[in-house]
Amino acid sequence: MTDRLGEECGVFGIWGCEEAAAHTVLGLHAMQHRGQEAAGIVSLQNDTFHCQKHAGLVGDAFSSEDVMGQLPGMAAIGHVRYSTTGDSSPQNIQPFYAELFTGPVALAHNGNLTNALTLRHDLVQKGHIFHSSSDTEVLLHLMARPQEFSGSWKETLKHALLQIEGAYSLVMLTRGALYGIRDPWGLRPLVLGQRNGTFVLASESCALDIMGATLIRDVAPGELITIDASGMKSEILLPKAPSKFCIFEYIYFSRPDSVLEGNSVYEVRKNIGRYLAEENPVAADVVVPVPDSGVPAALGYAEHSGIPFDLGIIRNHYVGRTFIEPTQSIRLLGVKLKHNPNKMFLQGKRVILVDDSIVRGTTSMKIVSMVRSAGATEVHMRIASPPTTHSCFYGVDTPSRDHLMAAHLSTQAMAEKIGVDSLAFISLDGLYRAVGQSGRDAAVPQYCDACFTGDYPIPLTDVAKCLV
Ligand code: AMP
Repeated sequence: MTDRLGEECGVFGIWGCEEAAAHTVLGLHAMQHRGQEAAGIVSLQNDTFHCQKHAGLVGDAFSSEDVMGQLPGMAAIGHVRYSTTGDSSPQNIQPFYAELFTGPVALAHNGNLTNALTLRHDLVQKGHIFHSSSDTEVLLHLMARPQEFSGSWKETLKHALLQIEGAYSLVMLTRGALYGIRDPWGLRPLVLGQRNGTFVLASESCALDIMGATLIRDVAPGELITIDASGMKSEILLPKAPSKFCIFEYIYFSRPDSVLEGNSVYEVRKNIGRYLAEENPVAADVVVPVPDSGVPAALGYAEHSGIPFDLGIIRNHYVGRTFIEPTQSIRLLGVKLKHNPNKMFLQGKRVILVDDSIVRGTTSMKIVSMVRSAGATEVHMRIASPPTTHSCFYGVDTPSRDHLMAAHLSTQAMAEKIGVDSLAFISLDGLYRAVGQSGRDAAVPQYCDACFTGDYPIPLTDVAKCLV
C-alpha cells in the first residue's frame, strides 16, 4: 500500500436548503487550508444521490457555473482532502458513497483511525473488497455487515463506531437525514451552525461565516447530531472519554478567524506570542513573523515585549503547492518562491523571527539564511509551539519521528543547525495558559498534545502491530 491512511481534511454538511451544493462549495472554499489535494461533494435530490469529486482546489474543481445542474438537491455533504504522501489516487477522494443493506449513504471524514489496518485485515479475510486505501472506507464496510445490523442508521453507525479507534469528525448523508458525529475524545473539530432555519455542519466556523450562517456551538465529543425534516436532534451516542481536542488546531491548522470551543483562534495565537515573550525575552530591534502562520503570535510577542512588529519577510500568495521549478539551472538558483526578505528593512537590525512550529527544520533554515543575507546583525528565533518531538497519528500529517528535528536534537543543537543566535519555544504550560487553562494537568492533560509529549490518548493499535 502506497498511501498512508488518514490525512488532514475539512468536512461540510447542509440539509434543507435551496442550492445546497452551491453552499457546500462556499463552505469548502473557506476550509481550503484544511486540504488542497482534492475536493468532493455529494448532493441529494429527492431520493437520488449525485456525486462529483475532483483533484485540486475547490475553486478549480467546482468552477463551473453548473454546480447546481450537476449536484441538484436540498442537501449535500462535502470534503477537502490533504495528503502529503504524493499518492493522490482518485479512489481516495471523499465523500465516499456506498449502497448498503440499510440504503445508500455518503460519508466524509476528518481524522485518522488508528486501528483501521487491523480491522481492514480482518474484513479482507472475511471477503470484503476495498476500493481505496483510505481508513474511512473501513468504516463503511463495518456499516455494511447486515448480520450485525439492527435497523436504523443510528444503530448501524454506532455499531461501526464502537469498533473503531482513533480520531473522527464525520458528516453522513442518507435519504432521510444528515448526521454529524465527533469521536468520544473530540480530537478533531466539528461545529453546528444555522441560517434561515437551515442547519449546517462544518469542521470550522469560517465555513459558516462565508454563507452568512451563525455558529450555534461545537458538536460535543461523542455527540450525534441528526438533521432531518423534523429539525435538529442531539444525543450522546458514544461512551464518554476524557476530552482531548487537538491543541495543534490552535497553533497552526485552523484558520485564525475561526472560533473553536468558544475561543478565537486568532486571540489564542496572540496569547501564545505574549507568553512566548514573557518566557523568552531577548533584546532586539524588531519582531518579524514568518508569514502567514507566524503573524498572530508575532503580534502578541511584539505587544508584550514592546519591540516593534514589522513585515521583514514577504510571502508570495500565488505559489501553488504543486509549483515545480522548470529547469535544473533555475532550481540551483535556490529561488525564493514563497518568501522573500524585505532587504532594505532588515539591514543592520537585530531580528526576532516568530514562526508557529519547527517540523523538519527546513523552513527555518531557509528563512534564517535569507534574513542573515539581507543584513540582519542578529537573528533570534521564537516558536509558538513546544518542540515537535512525535508524529501525529490522529489526522495531522507530520513526518515520521526520524524526520522531526526536535526528536533528535536539543534546543541548543537545533539553534546551531538552523543558524540562529538564540532559539526558544513556548513551554507546554505556556501553551495551555494561552488556551485559557491554568497550565497542563500532567495527570489528565486537557488536550491532545501528543506531538509535543508522546502522550497518545487513543491506542495506536496499527502502530503497535507495525502495520503503519
Ligand atoms: P518544516 O520546514 O518541516 O520545519 O515545517 C515547518 C513549517 O511548516 C511551519 O512554518 C508551519 O507553518 C508548517 N507546518 C507545520 N505543521 C504542518 C503540517 N502538519 N502540515 C503542513 N505544514 C505544516
